[in-house]
Amino acid sequence: MIKKLSAAIIALLVVGGGIFAFVNGRGDQKSEENQKLKVVTTNSILEDMVNQVAGDDVDVYSIVKRGTDPHAYDPTTDDIAEATDADVLFHNGLNLETGGSGWFNKLTDTANKHDGKEVFAVSKNVKPLYLTAAGKENETDPHAWLDISNGVKYVKLINSVLKDKDPDNAKDYQKRTDAYVEKLEKLHKEAQNKFSDIPEEQRLLVTSEGAFKYFSKAYGIKPAYIWEINTESQGTPEQMKQVLAKIDQSEAKSLFVETSVSPKSMNKVSKETGLPIHSKIFTDSLAKKGTQGDTYYDMVKWNIDKIHDGMLGKE
Ligand SMILES: [Zn+2]
Repeated sequence: MIKKLSAAIIALLVVGGGIFAFVNGRGDQKSEENQKLKVVTTNSILEDMVNQVAGDDVDVYSIVKRGTDPHAYDPTTDDIAEATDADVLFHNGLNLETGGSGWFNKLTDTANKHDGKEVFAVSKNVKPLYLTAAGKENETDPHAWLDISNGVKYVKLINSVLKDKDPDNAKDYQKRTDAYVEKLEKLHKEAQNKFSDIPEEQRLLVTSEGAFKYFSKAYGIKPAYIWEINTESQGTPEQMKQVLAKIDQSEAKSLFVETSVSPKSMNKVSKETGLPIHSKIFTDSLAKKGTQGDTYYDMVKWNIDKIHDGMLGKE
């Protein structure tokens, strides 16, 4: 009898405890959901920067999937729902998501979000460079983040917006930002000295898209490309002619291809010139999570190391 009774009491305690934990757990989750700032970014590079600054203090949703092109994009119904629900939306600016079809402007209109209120361009404090093609000299080149000192400006802007929107966590945002900026500035300094051991006529960086204007200016190399920006036609005979001429005038040892474009045109350049494609490099997207180049820091470090070795003609 006593045995049976204690078994019943234990059973009651277990069930009761379970119900308590269930109710309590749900309660916690709900209040956490209500408290966390909802942040939407247009691409994976900005997603990572927000994660570095905010840790687990915000929920981040990134629109353009890894490995795909953010210049041209069609938002899905999920993207529209997330943008509508967001407290903050970060985009690159400088004609990246607002160039071409202007998909991001349409999205913020649909989601009823406004510039300076919920919508922020992380490149706001960057000194822009411009396209060079005839008729496009007034259009900004979006690829500012490939110069790490601009990446630092992005991170600082993200930090100031998040602190403003979520003062309760401001101290933590600032602490993470300080440590992250220090790490990035160290890599920037390294990159500034990285290419000095390569003869100047070999310092030609050949890519598909002309995404390396900011990078080249910061780190003392020369860019060559097939097309200037992804929103224009890609790999036309005229474009092929001009890139082959540029390579011909240099002592370039190798070519590179970006992860977020089709390698078709660069394969043609390789065939025509006999130069190898040294490696893939990252421009408009991070690598898939869990693979090399899946953070902003790792992607720029990868680029610097690969570009250096490829220019030297290393295997
Ligand atoms: Zn691009």
